[in-house]
Parts: sequence; structure tokens; C-alpha cells
Amino acid sequence: MSFARGRAFAALHSSVRLLQASSSTSARSLPVTRRLLSTTACIRQLHGLKANNTDLESDMKHLHHHRSHDPKLFDEAGRDLNPYRQGPSAVDKAVHLFFLTEIMRGMWIVLENFFRQPYTIKYPFEKGPLSPRFRGEHALRRYPSGEERCIACKLCEAICPAQAITIESETRLDGSRRTTKYDIDMTKCIYCGFCQEACPVDAIVETQNQEFATETREELLYNKEKLLMNGDRAEAEIAANLYSEHVYR
Ligand code: SF4
Ligand code: SF4
Repeated sequence: MSFARGRAFAALHSSVRLLQASSSTSARSLPVTRRLLSTTACIRQLHGLKANNTDLESDMKHLHHHRSHDPKLFDEAGRDLNPYRQGPSAVDKAVHLFFLTEIMRGMWIVLENFFRQPYTIKYPFEKGPLSPRFRGEHALRRYPSGEERCIACKLCEAICPAQAITIESETRLDGSRRTTKYDIDMTKCIYCGFCQEACPVDAIVETQNQEFATETREELLYNKEKLLMNGDRAEAEIAANLYSEHVYR
């Protein structure tokens, strides 16, 4: 209770002194006075000054005296409060300044990097490595006999989250089922790879080709012929990648 009264008295007293200071000081010194007064209550609490001490100058003198005769070198956790204690001395700084050592160090880093292998490559003339799991342009595969692998089970169409695949099928004279239409809208595809994961015969795959940008949207509506052509062109690469990953699938 006495603490609360002391705080209230200090706040009231500070306000009165602020009014007095405002009227008696020039506009230039007003911000300084305001800052000093606003921190008076905190300073009193920190250093045990009496709340009814009316002389601001004596408060500040007391504070300076306290700081100069009782400097706190470490905080309660034992950390050094002086951030410059471990820093370079004035002589060190002068020597570095005189001999331009920091410029020399900077120039040395430039020289080092001048002879280092570049981190960048000159795409498209140079290309970085691609993971065998890379999911790029789609392709439909064939068996070595030339027969297309797809059996029109429509699992890929069902699982495609973008609904980019459209399949129509028919039963051939020999009883096998094959697709009559296999379209992929590549503008819808999100390259999630679900279609190739769902396919039981590894017919639909995603190749490592990532350079199939077109000028028109229509060129990205792939039909069965286009997909089979992609598969024929990249069959060796597709087979090698599938084999390298077969233990994980
Ligand atoms: S990669 Fe994903 S989004 Fe693209 S066609 Fe296959 S299942 Fe659909
Ligand atoms: S590509 Fe595979 S999953 Fe899709 S319909 Fe053909 S066999 Fe089924």
C-alpha cells in the first residue's frame, strides 16, 4: 500500500515538475527535460531514492555518483556488461587503419574467388545433374515388341488430383483392352507423379525432360500419339531410371 502511494506521489510530482519545466524552459530544451522527468520514477526505484526528493539536479548527481563509484561489471548471470572489454585496443585499430589491412583482406578474398571454380553454369549449354526421380514431361511406354503397355485400367485417371488425364478404351478382337484415347492436359498437371505410381504396368511415366515450354496452350494438350512418341524417344533413359529406383518402389 505504501509502495503504491509512493508511486502515485512520484507520478503526480513528476507531472507537476513537467508543467513547471515546460513553462520555464525554451522549446529546444523541452524534449530533454521531458525525458529526464519521465525516467525519474524508475531511477528512484532502481537506486532507492526517496519519492519526495524535490531537487532533480541532486537526483542526477546522486545517480552519477552511484555509477562512478559502484560500476556494475557483470550482470546477475555473470555476463560481462561492457561490450568493448574484449574488443581491439585503440593501438590495434590505428595499426589496421594505417596499413589498410581490411582492404587487403577484402582484396585477398576477391583473388581467391577469381581462381575458384564458378558456382554457376552456362545454361542451356551446360546442365546440372538431375535425380532419377525427377518428374518432368509425361510419356507412354511400349514393350520391346512394340506393343503399348497401357491396359486402360484407368487407375491413373482416377488418382490424378488435377483431373488432367482423360482415357477412353475398347476391347480388341483378341480380348485385350487398350486405350483409344489417352489425353493429358499438361496445363493442369501439377507433376505430383501419382499417375506413374498408380500404374500397374509402368506405362505412364514422367521423364527427365523439363524443356517443353511452348508458345501456345494447345501445344500442351498431349494426346496418345504425342505421349507414345515421348516414350519411344526416351525409353532407354526411362528404363535406366526405373531400374535404379526399383528397390524403393
Ligand atoms: S503428375 Fe499428377 S497431376 Fe500430372 S497427370 Fe500425373 S497424377 Fe495428374
Ligand atoms: S497408364 Fe497405367 S494406370 Fe493409366 S490406364 Fe494405362 S495401365 Fe492404367
